[in-house]
Amino acid sequence: MTPTATLAPQVVQQIVTRAGRPDFDRWAEQVTRCGHCAHPVRLRGRVEHGTASGARVAYSTDCEPDRVLLIRCGNRRAAVCPSCSYEYAGDMWQLLYAGAAGGRKGVPESIRSHPLVFATLTAPGFGPVHTTRADRSGPARCRPVHGAQRLCPHGRPTWCTAIHAEDDPRLGQPICPDCYDYSGHVAFNWHAPELWRRFTITLRRALAKTAGLTAAEFTRRCRVSFVKVAEFQRRGVVHFHALVRLDGPGEDYQPPQISIDAAELAEAIRQAAAHVRLTVEMPNGPDLVLRFGTQLDTQTVNGGPTGELTAEHAARYIAKYATKSAEDFGLGERRITPETLALLNVPSHVERLVRTAWQLGEHDAYEGLRRWVHMLGFRGHFASKSRRYSTTLGAIRGERRAYRQRQAAEHARELIDEDTTLVVSHWEFAGVGYLTSGDTALALSAAARAREQRQAAREAA
Ligand SMILES: [Zn+2]
Ligand SMILES: [Zn+2]
Ligand SMILES: [Zn+2]
Repeated sequence: MTPTATLAPQVVQQIVTRAGRPDFDRWAEQVTRCGHCAHPVRLRGRVEHGTASGARVAYSTDCEPDRVLLIRCGNRRAAVCPSCSYEYAGDMWQLLYAGAAGGRKGVPESIRSHPLVFATLTAPGFGPVHTTRADRSGPARCRPVHGAQRLCPHGRPTWCTAIHAEDDPRLGQPICPDCYDYSGHVAFNWHAPELWRRFTITLRRALAKTAGLTAAEFTRRCRVSFVKVAEFQRRGVVHFHALVRLDGPGEDYQPPQISIDAAELAEAIRQAAAHVRLTVEMPNGPDLVLRFGTQLDTQTVNGGPTGELTAEHAARYIAKYATKSAEDFGLGERRITPETLALLNVPSHVERLVRTAWQLGEHDAYEGLRRWVHMLGFRGHFASKSRRYSTTLGAIRGERRAYRQRQAAEHARELIDEDTTLVVSHWEFAGVGYLTSGDTALALSAAARAREQRQAAREAA
């Protein structure tokens, strides 16, 4: 929360003016109702009711503070809107949890008996970067010297004896930027969605082999359902967290008609991730063979050995990543050119990634890449799922919207005559964000208080 003492005098004046207005309580109620959104959409309009004697205005924003109604921005990114991102993560969690635990959102409880694995597929190395490590005695040195101290071809040390703190800006930065394979790094981000697609094909083949079936017979008996989230690692490369589940072939979440358990599914995922390859063209050199990194993690979910993940934990883990994106690197969500890059003041590693992406984008094989340099070349969806994993985010948001509309309608009914027959709504866009910096400060401090209360309630539970 921003202490009032650090606010500019005119902002303090705006807060005082707002708080002194007779409709302040109604304004505060609106801010609460839009979930303390950081950039609410302002709407102006009215609801008319047809009666026997003609239309009559039942509700109008003319009676609201500043003559507007505030509606959530709905942005997924925590850096843009903490409140809406919190809500998005909640929706995402519902979707993930429904597919892992069942018993909700149209997914039967029997889904818990299906093989389910939580997997993390990382990117390979493109050169040593500063990192945090731990050994048995606690935090360990970044890159200790092994044998004789050796300088790289650029005369820089190949080691780092620091123990980096979690907020050390060097984390994720190359030990030697000139040794680092920037082209390979950007090519990986650019082709990662295709590498993932190849992985799902390879996985189906590996599972068919485990079950002793032909590919066609496997497809008749089993479907691989998944939901995945892309996360940027500190070094600026994407990796994937996924829940992978085996179902029967129909539309109704029947169990797979093959005898493969969660441990065998995990093994098939490890094999497929280790073997999948994608050969891509590079403009200034030989073709590049892309693969996933050797750091590969699989954990079975529901049933099976002790110490495994629960459906709740797996869902929470993935939902958390759904609200992060490349803007954590200071790039924002807009397109970037080399000219605008200079104004962003980003770390040199990020700058080199952006420049490399821009240069690669010049070549035919990387057509379209220039539109994605703000994502360090990653053009995939941050969260995606196969069709039958569970419900959709749209359905969950629709339910919530319907619930809010019902609430609003109930509220309105108390104010409206009984003999109304027809409702007509007229809305127009009046702008985005709060009217003054004072309003924003008030809304954000209320949002922080609400989050603290939610957190306290969660910890007490
Ligand atoms: Zn918002
Ligand atoms: Zn280091
Ligand atoms: Zn070097």
